[in-house]
Amino acid sequence: MSEPTTATSDSTGYAVTVDRDACDGVFACLVRDPRFVEDDDGLAAFDPDAAEAVERTETSVTATFADDRIDDARGAAAACPLDAIAVAPAERDDAAAPAEGEGEEEGEGEAE
Ligand code: SF4
Repeated sequence: MSEPTTATSDSTGYAVTVDRDACDGVFACLVRDPRFVEDDDGLAAFDPDAAEAVERTETSVTATFADDRIDDARGAAAACPLDAIAVAPAERDDAAAPAEGEGEEEGEGEAE
């Protein structure tokens, strides 16, 4: 009940990206998740009022969300017949860099 109000929550942030090259305006995504909208090119985009941020380029549009509706976004991604939607949990700032385990050991055991 007593959740801290600091912005350290890492369980609700995620980003949803539409590949504008792949999107063909079928709009199956809108049915699954109303945060998807049609943009002025007739392709999928995001309702800016529903997202923390929306970033659009020529080839993609990415919205960042901080809510618990990632399953809706995943449902939209699953419904897209062109597989144009990607859903990714937000990266944590304090995430440690992946440790590269180089297990190359030169075990030259010349035992004769
Ligand atoms: S369902 Fe896929 S192809 Fe259709 S509008 Fe949405 S992102 Fe584009």
